[in-house]
Amino acid sequence: MRTLPLSNSGEIPVLGLGTWRMGEVASRRKAEVAAVREAIAMGYRLIDTAEMYGEGGAEMVVGQALAEALQAGDVRRDELFIVSKVYPHNASRRGTPEACERSLKRLGLDTIDLYLLHWRGSHPLSETANAMQALVAQGRIVHWGVSNFDLDDMEELTQVVGEGSGCAANQVYLSLGERGPEFNLLPWLRERGMPLMAYSPIDQGALAADSALGELASRLGVSAAQLALAAVISRPGVVAIPKAVRSKHLEENLAAARLTLDAATLAELDRLYPPPRRKTPLAMI
Ligand code: NAP
Repeated sequence: MRTLPLSNSGEIPVLGLGTWRMGEVASRRKAEVAAVREAIAMGYRLIDTAEMYGEGGAEMVVGQALAEALQAGDVRRDELFIVSKVYPHNASRRGTPEACERSLKRLGLDTIDLYLLHWRGSHPLSETANAMQALVAQGRIVHWGVSNFDLDDMEELTQVVGEGSGCAANQVYLSLGERGPEFNLLPWLRERGMPLMAYSPIDQGALAADSALGELASRLGVSAAQLALAAVISRPGVVAIPKAVRSKHLEENLAAARLTLDAATLAELDRLYPPPRRKTPLAMI
């Protein structure tokens, strides 16, 4: 799997597994744990979760799958890149480390590889950033970052914490159907070596059923979802985290990370899903 360097150290795979909507319903838990385990066995190394998903339920699903996979020797901990997120209302100087400890416990881990502020809330950015930096110093997280931050938020964060002071990534909504961040947020992040993590890269499944995309995809011998993912990660500096539970989806999405799109295909995609010509407010799901 191709990786992107992180600005301070280490690297992040360009494709990972999302877990939103997991851990919400007890009767689905077994299938969800099995899906995360299957994903790891297939070769997924990046897993994205959050304390919000299922109010801790998704972290518990991931934690159980990780425990089983590590115990079975399917993977080593140092091969995995686990991402979680703090709720904005918890992201105070004291609340952030407390939330992080709860997430670590649910995940059954000693450290989280990337810990994000899920979106901006009322706690001052300086408090959250200081708490994140302290968690890095204590080894409870390896990297910290943000999510749903538009360019003005990134600039404000840089003013607060200083250029190069450790924000490792920004996770935002980016897909063929939602290309707004390509206008100026992505170039800004790219210049600073901060990966953009694209969430909902299949538009929550909608692009898989998009007929125009499906037609182009079938000419290439791939599925519409695969083309949607390959398009997103063809942009330099972008990581995608599609969520899937079904085996077929897990397989397809992982294989999409190996696709290379030629110039004609990229041009056709630009015709079907035009790139932004002006700044639009960051979309959020
Ligand atoms: P998504 O990944 O765009 O789409 C997920 C949906 O697409 C699921 O219903 C899945 O079905 C289906 N799907 C997956 N692969 C497919 C394929 N190859 N063919 C057809 N359908 C396929 O949407 P998302 O879950 O909103 O976003 C992905 C992840 O980003 C989330 O899970 C979460 O980790 C993260 N996220 C973060 C934020 C944030 O604020 N930071 C917001 C939204 C999402 P099955 O599950 O049935 O396989």
